[in-house]
Formats: sequence, C-alpha cells, structure tokens
Amino acid sequence: MADTIKCKHCGEKRAPLGFAPFPNEIGQRIATEICPPCWASWLQKQTQIINHYGLDLMKPDAQDFLFDNLKGFLFGEVKPEATEATIDTSKEGTVKW
Ligand SMILES: [Zn+2]
Repeated sequence: MADTIKCKHCGEKRAPLGFAPFPNEIGQRIATEICPPCWASWLQKQTQIINHYGLDLMKPDAQDFLFDNLKGFLFGEVKPEATEATIDTSKEGTVKW
C-alpha cells in the first residue's frame, strides 16, 4: 500500500494519488507527490482554464499550455516564459452552461 507523502501542493501528510493521470513523467510525479484532494482541485481549475481559453486539447500547443499551468499549480514550477493563466473569479456564476 502506498506510503504517506508530504504533498507538494498543500504540504499535508497524506496518501498520494497513487495513479499516474498522464502517461509521462509529470503523471508519475503526480501519482507519488500529490494528494487526491489537490488533484481534485486541479481538475476543477483545469476545467476553468479550458473553458476560459477555449482550449482545443487536440492541439499540442493547448496541451503544453495546460501542462505549464498544471506544473505551476501543483508543483509551483513555472517556466520563465510561461504566464500562469489567471481567471477572473469575479465573473463566477455569470457563465451559462
Ligand atoms: Zn495536497
């Protein structure tokens, strides 16, 4: 069974997510360094970012953009040339689904 880790995002000692959500290095890191609640909050933010920017995830550019944001959000790693997506939360609740 998985050990307790110190989550890279919230700093709490918890069980790690335990599975890699992506088939790459970042996915492995999330599986072992991020706790399930933090992963869940990223998924919410990811949805906001996709909707906010109208990202087409079939495009490599859009995937890179999302991964940059993911790394910034979960691990606090932001590439110098990457600008973190900022979402205008004051408009929350005005979006019609
Ligand atoms: Zn966490």
